[in-house]
Amino acid sequence: MDRRSLFETTTTLGLGALAASALPGCALPGAAQTGAKTPFNVPLTTIPIFGSEQVFPVRRIYCIGRNYAAHAREMGSDPTREPPFFFQKPTDAIQNVAPGTVADHPYPSLTKNYHYEVELVAALHTGGRNIPIATALDHVLAYALGLDMTRRDLRRGMGDEKKPWEIGKSFDHSAPIGPLHRATQTGPFTQGAIWLKVNGQLKQNANLNQMIWSVAEQISKLSEAFELMPGDIVYSGTPENVGPVVKGDVIECHIDGLPNLNVKIVWAGHPGAAYRRREPVSPSAHRACWPRRRCQGPAR
Ligand code: MN
Repeated sequence: MDRRSLFETTTTLGLGALAASALPGCALPGAAQTGAKTPFNVPLTTIPIFGSEQVFPVRRIYCIGRNYAAHAREMGSDPTREPPFFFQKPTDAIQNVAPGTVADHPYPSLTKNYHYEVELVAALHTGGRNIPIATALDHVLAYALGLDMTRRDLRRGMGDEKKPWEIGKSFDHSAPIGPLHRATQTGPFTQGAIWLKVNGQLKQNANLNQMIWSVAEQISKLSEAFELMPGDIVYSGTPENVGPVVKGDVIECHIDGLPNLNVKIVWAGHPGAAYRRREPVSPSAHRACWPRRRCQGPAR
């Protein structure tokens, strides 16, 4: 069997298994296709679980918007207790950051106003629909410290034009996160300091008890709109004083009871950009520039 016919056979088998799982009346999630043969592999996104050899497999990333009154005001909206709103990031937007390290975080394309948002993250090991507030925290396996990185100019621009603003929120590497800490060890995060520094200077500084909607209320509200599933994680919103970072800046984040999260913003553009800045470029990067006429680098 040559490679081409092998590929086609594998694809056909994969589709056949997929069709067999999609029985009428059976709304099976994508994971039910396990065992189907595929022409390539898609890596599973996971988050380390502190003190464990297990990792947490991520299904969906939900994010709540404007969940601190002062941040709602700085975004130009009324912080009255209107229902919380949610958006999603793609699962593979996760960037795992180990405690005690400073992870390189790539400055993304297309933006000139790249913002940090420090947030508490809750990770679910069970799900459901219409989950009552009183039992919502039973679904939380663990908590982590996360960053909801935002291309603010694109987020605002698309919003102003009443277009979907995914390009401002849901891009590659937009969800740096520390390891998960089990709720059985940390307890619930209903209060405690949450802060963020850039280059050692305090930028965001608030208390988790200033959330408009608690984590339990967020889970309950989310489950009215979506059936929550094991593997879902929820970014619970950021306090006021979000702001921009540029290449070279170091972000340090903190929530009481979790290890700090540190990232350094690095330029990840085409090596041509380094040529224009007269920075040293390795021979291998030089070869990556061929053909030279395309070696313009991204606009800065
Ligand atoms: Mn956010």
